[in-house]
Amino acid sequence: MKTVDSYNFAGKKALVRVDFNVPLDAQYTITDDTRIRAAIPTIQKILKDGGSVILMSHLGRPKPPQTESSEPFFDEKFSLKHIVDHLSKLLNKPVLFANNCIGAEAQSAAKQLKAGEVLLLENLRFHKQETAGTESFAKELSTLGNVYVNDAFGTAHRAHASTTIIAKFFPNDKVFGHVMANELASIDKVLNKAERPFTAIMGGAKVSGKILIIDSLLNKIDNLIIGGGMAYTFIKAQGGKIGSSLVEEDKLDIALKILNDAKAKGVNIYIPVDTIVADAFSNDANKQTVDIKLIPDGFMGLDIGPKTEKINAEVIANSKTILWNGPMGVFEMSNFEHGTKAAAEAIVAATRKGAYSLIGGGDSVAAINKYNLGNDVSYVSTGGGALLEYIESGSLPGIRVIEE
Ligand code: AMP
Repeated sequence: MKTVDSYNFAGKKALVRVDFNVPLDAQYTITDDTRIRAAIPTIQKILKDGGSVILMSHLGRPKPPQTESSEPFFDEKFSLKHIVDHLSKLLNKPVLFANNCIGAEAQSAAKQLKAGEVLLLENLRFHKQETAGTESFAKELSTLGNVYVNDAFGTAHRAHASTTIIAKFFPNDKVFGHVMANELASIDKVLNKAERPFTAIMGGAKVSGKILIIDSLLNKIDNLIIGGGMAYTFIKAQGGKIGSSLVEEDKLDIALKILNDAKAKGVNIYIPVDTIVADAFSNDANKQTVDIKLIPDGFMGLDIGPKTEKINAEVIANSKTILWNGPMGVFEMSNFEHGTKAAAEAIVAATRKGAYSLIGGGDSVAAINKYNLGNDVSYVSTGGGALLEYIESGSLPGIRVIEE
């Protein structure tokens, strides 16, 4: 793997695509700086070698005009200038800022940049050409530096100008940063070097978003645990009564196909046997624990039940590789978080016994962090959609262009 560790940045201007897409409150204070912290080792490596760093990122989803105007678009809410002070504190050195990621200001700031200095460019997505993947825009960005570093795993599944298109202008000088390298090593461990038994735990709201990933995983795993809202589609497909639980009527056939495919491939599939149901989608609703195939009318399943928790915990305890995507219930509500918390704790216990555990995809990451267990599993992925797409297709555009 071509990483920053195998490249000497002495005298180089490194153009580094980072993911500084952090949450800001109404006063533009950063409420979670995990992504900024994650990029620090890559920046430090370049500076230590005697290089300088030009950082480019997106922040949020600004809506620049779709015209061909050359005027830079600006929206205070999405300005990366709000990141400068905090980044400067983390790096313990001043951070320069350019109010536009291309054009005269950026060119001159990059030109004057000296070894050991750091320049942050304004939000790439203030130009519609970024998400459009426009080659001329990527080329303009590329002229700012002489080596390209991609350390933004969370956007590696997008063929955007700064994540993918730009790489062609650095045929011999393109490498992965530490965040990327760690993500790739972790995925490789799970997808290509998994110790058996390998268990995938899939939850979350809907089957529809998970079909491709389940399809792809069935060729690799020994056990598939299903939970969350998507479980009720499987139960209904098998003829169970699910009351007013979440269901995708048009995915009943696919649920049955997944069950058949699993059987054909020798994968043990664990669908919940009991569930905690509520008479409203509310933490204060009346609740009871029932057989998942016999949910009374007027009730919806919002969590897995205690028998299911126990079955799942046993499967997890006997696993050597674990991939977790999606909560087991509506874990945001304290009365319906037990199943998700129990799964997280079972994964932690298995990890302590030597299993490799990868947590990835939006809400399971939120869940593991809610229970402060992020440091007790093997790896928590920083890229939700990117991780899922990687597992589905075996690579990502932003990764292929560096490996080529
Ligand atoms: P996803 O983005 O597909 O991983 O879905 C995550 C969301 O699924 C979370 O916000 C959960 O609250 C929700 N969820 C999990 N279980 C259920 C359920 N039984 N009914 C409705 N929503 C659920």
